[in-house]
Amino acid sequence: KTFEDCGFAPELMRAIAKQGYEKPTTIQCQALPIVLSGRDIIGIAKTGSGKTASFVLPMIVHIMDQPELQKEEGPIGVICAPTRELAHQIFLETKKFAKAYGIRASAVYGGMSKLDQFKELKAGCEIVIATPGRLIDMLKMKALTMMRATYLVLDEADRMFDLGFEPQIRSIVGQIRPDRQTLLFSATMPRKVEKLAREILSDPVRVTV
Ligand code: AMP
Repeated sequence: KTFEDCGFAPELMRAIAKQGYEKPTTIQCQALPIVLSGRDIIGIAKTGSGKTASFVLPMIVHIMDQPELQKEEGPIGVICAPTRELAHQIFLETKKFAKAYGIRASAVYGGMSKLDQFKELKAGCEIVIATPGRLIDMLKMKALTMMRATYLVLDEADRMFDLGFEPQIRSIVGQIRPDRQTLLFSATMPRKVEKLAREILSDPVRVTV
């Protein structure tokens, strides 16, 4: 399998080549076609597998495919991650591919000035990468609206549950329109995560690496 098989546009292919990604990793081979087809997915994979690009690349395609959304406000892609370190890593991986398209990504997480993050979100973005608690804070402050959000990623869902973020995750999901595409990644699938997946994903495909 190659990245060409995914039907990515030339700009995206160039950005992938620029990163030195020669061929898709195992999780990318399995997940990319499913996510690009618009289906919901449960990806059982760990950090280091290349899972980030398996949701970031289709997110870029998803955003570019929806020109009618460009005039509205708020993020189109919403990514939740358990820790600021992971959120920052996802932000860096996203920037590599979003930049060429002028897609704006913002990362919001605890430990940073809420006022600065509020201002950044107010300025507008197509992608937000956040820890659940801080995203709730930003929603309460009306720093952003979810009316345009149609692509939701829950990364390391099991760790988010371990850290007690289940109520925040449920609140965030509840604010995003039900006709969204939803992706859930987790290293393990404890019963509580399985239950959430059943409730918030529609007819998901499951891939395990
Ligand atoms: P992740 O599991 O998403 O944290 O990715 C682990 C590392 O692999 C990151 O440094 C990525 O930049 C890198 N990576 C992701 N996909 C590929 C690929 N197809 N070829 C080479 N490196 C990759």
